[in-house]
This record gives sequence, structure tokens and C-alpha cells, in this order.
Amino acid sequence: MLARRCAAVPLPSLRAGCGSQRLQFSSTAASRADFTHVVVGGGVVGLAVARQLALRPSTSTLLVERNAAVGTETSSRNSEVIHAGIYYGAASLKMRLCVRGRRLLYDLCDRHAVGHRRTGKWIVAQTDAQRGALERIHALCRDEIGVETRWVGREEMERDGEGVRARTGALDSPTTGIVDVHGLMVCLQGLFEDAGGVVALNSPVTGVRPLGSSPPGSAGWEVDVRDASTGESSTITADTLVNAAGLGAVDVHNMIVPEPRRRRLFLAKGNYFSYAASHPRVSRLIYPAPEPGAGGLGTHLTLDLGGRVRFGPDVEWVESPDDLAVNAARLPQAIAEIKKYLPGVDASCLTPDYAGVRPKLSDKRSVGTGDGFNDFIIRREDGYEGWVNLLGIESPGLTSSLAIAEEVDQLMHGSGGTHSTH
Ligand SMILES: Cc1cc2nc3c(=O)[nH]c(=O)nc-3n(C[C@H](O)[C@H](O)[C@H](O)COP(=O)(O)OP(=O)(O)OC[C@H]3O[C@@H](n4cnc5c(N)ncnc54)[C@H](O)[C@@H]3O)c2cc1C
Repeated sequence: MLARRCAAVPLPSLRAGCGSQRLQFSSTAASRADFTHVVVGGGVVGLAVARQLALRPSTSTLLVERNAAVGTETSSRNSEVIHAGIYYGAASLKMRLCVRGRRLLYDLCDRHAVGHRRTGKWIVAQTDAQRGALERIHALCRDEIGVETRWVGREEMERDGEGVRARTGALDSPTTGIVDVHGLMVCLQGLFEDAGGVVALNSPVTGVRPLGSSPPGSAGWEVDVRDASTGESSTITADTLVNAAGLGAVDVHNMIVPEPRRRRLFLAKGNYFSYAASHPRVSRLIYPAPEPGAGGLGTHLTLDLGGRVRFGPDVEWVESPDDLAVNAARLPQAIAEIKKYLPGVDASCLTPDYAGVRPKLSDKRSVGTGDGFNDFIIRREDGYEGWVNLLGIESPGLTSSLAIAEEVDQLMHGSGGTHSTH
């Protein structure tokens, strides 16, 4: 099957041997670039995008990842929830890509035996205001986006509630589920390599330059890469560039654009706490009703595929993407939030687990006032040719990853050339 396995090696090794027919360095003509596509960032989104692009005939795709393995940053520090797509405005990219991505993801998991489960989820309300929020979600799902939701009746709540409290109502989202995100990324990397794609690990991108001037990028792209183990630098060329660098995406963006177009990234850490007790035993995901401007979906109850319960993530604004230690000082606040919907939780069985950092495009002030909804940015950047830029790919980026890949492919190649990944 693997006709050209040349993956998961540092970039200098690629240049020395494998794939040498592609590696004609120092070319500035787009048609003679080393690769047709270079994707920066080997998280779940970069992997999905690279795999989609590699399926095009007569292309060569390089995925460049700064760490020693793919998927070690945000993609392995999340809730592993396959979201239904019910929280975002009907016109948003988040809604469209989440709904499409969920279907694609379940399908891919079924076909490639990636671990997943359709657990369903209840969103629970304790106040009238929260009930109002659930009513708005239900109406949006029913009238505008065609996603299934259902009220949980009082009797059902008493019979099947498993100790969960929902004073003013509970909404069931039956299409929500969980996925083994590590297994998903292994699968995507394998599919990418099977399609002839190349992964360069330990390869931080340190510089990016568009070639040509009318417009910049019309003659391709130069990408500077440092070998993290030797410190040696090299430059590759590609016809097109995808920036899927997650927490590093704004840095990559700022390497390219002039000063007035530079952006700033804001960071919202989410702390998780694992639960060691067997009671209460809850078999579906439980989310509190969303609070406008909270910056997250609230400290919820999620399950992994082994049935283990964990709670989180909260929202803690931090200064560094490397601030990944769980802040144990936030446990009392988490317990207070959890007790609102699971009063029988045994607080002594909660321990710090792990944390992930959300790449936010606006800061806590605008998020906190409720007007800070940031949609995904996925676009061809104005004034450049051959560059698709992905910024602010926070939740539901995992669920949306396969649909984001389709979107990037469309932006890059147009609808005429759409091809199937099946
Ligand atoms: C706390 C939390 C909970 C979440 N829960 C969910 C959920 O339940 N469901 C859901 O759908 N989504 C969830 N998300 C969102 C989801 O995890 C992300 O949207 C998704 O993982 C983003 O993937 P990515 O590939 O864009 O980013 P990443 O996984 O961050 O990958 C980007 C990669 O780029 C690499 N990189 C960065 N800079 C460079 C550079 N200069 N050179 C080379 N490589 C570089 C990094 O090393 C990294 O591997 C959650 C996120 C958080 C933080």
C-alpha cells in the first residue's frame, strides 16, 4: 500500500534522498517548486488539510511540524467531543463546518475503525435565563440549521437522569459523541502518507516569503525551516501555502504580512479534572447551559472511550501557550460549577488532569461582554496568491477538521476541481 513512505523524518533527510524528484531547490518558478503544497502545522486540522490536498492528482504535499510527533499541542489537549454544531450562529463558519465535519468524522471513524461513540449529551438549565438559552438553541436547531435536539421530559429525567440536576430543563443532543483523537490523527497521517504526502517533524518554520510581486505569492512561496535537533536551516519552495499552525498560526501570519496587518493572539487555558469515583455513574455527556461571553462552554462532564469521567475545561486567561500546568487553585470553583448539575459528585475524588490552550482572536474584555464571538478565519488572504490562512481554530476545530480540509481545498482549487476523499 505504501508506495512512497517517506514520512515522519526531519526535513534535511528528505532533501538528501526520499522524494528527490520533487526537491529541486532554489527554484523561483511556481511550476518548478519543491512541492505543490506546503502545510504548516501537524495538528488534526493540518493533517486533515494535507491529506485532502494530497489526494489531488499530480500534486506533492509537505506537512511541516515543529515537534517530534504530530498532534502534541491543542489537538491532544481537548475534550475529544464530536460536537453537534448547535452553539453558533446560523451564518457562521463554525456552524457550517461543525455540522458538515461531524458527519464526515463519524463516517471516517466508521470506515477506518477509529474509536468513537455516539454518547449523546444533555445540556442542563438551572435558572430561567438558562432555560431561555436552551429554548434559543432548540429553535435555532429546529428552524434554521436542521440539527436534532429534543427536550428531556420530567419523567425521563427522574428515570434516566443518573443523578443529574436540571431545575428548569434539559435539552438532549443525540448526535453529539466522543472520538479517540490520537487514533484519528494516526489514521489521517496514514491516509496522507498513503496518498504520497510527506511529513517533516522537528521542523519549526522560522520564515515565510511570497515569491513574485503581482501579486505576492504568484510565483510560489519560500519557507525557512530549522532542524530542531541540529539547528541547521533550510529553505523549501512550494506553489501554495496553508497556515494551519494552531497556537503558532498568528506568528506565521505575522511573518508574511506588513506591520499594519499583523495580529495578536490571546490565550484562554482550559483546566481539566479527572474523577476517580464510580458514583454518580453518568453515561452521557453533561453540559451546563452556555453563558454568553464566557469564552468556553462551561465546566462540563465528558467521558473517554473507557468510560472514565473528567470535568472541564474552565477558562483561565494566560500569557504563554506553554502555560499548560493544571492550575489546582481553580479546583474549588470547578467543584462549585459541577455541583450545580451533579450535586452528588464526590469532590475528594477530583484531581488535576491536563490543560489545553484556546487560540483566541480577541481578549477577555470583548469575550466577557458577550460581543466577542470569534468565528474561524479560513480564507485566501487579500493581496496574496496561493495562501490559505487558518486563524483562531478553537473549538469546534476537532469536529470540523475534515470539513475545514474541504473548505481549504475549495479555496485553493475552486469548486470545479472538487474531488472525493472516499
Ligand atoms: C480546552 C480545549 C477543549 C477543546 N475541546 C474540543 C472538543 O471537545 N471538540 C472539538 O471539536 N474541538 C475542541 N477543541 C478545539 C480543538 O482541539 C482544536 O480546534 C484543534 O485541535 C485545532 O487543531 P489544529 O491542528 O488547528 O491546532 P494544533 O493541534 O495546535 O496543531 C497546530 C500544530 O502546528 C504546529 N506549529 C505551530 N507553529 C509552527 C511552526 N512555526 N512551524 C511548524 N509547526 C508549527 C504545532 O506544533 C502544532 O502541532 C478544544 C480546544 C481546547 C483548547
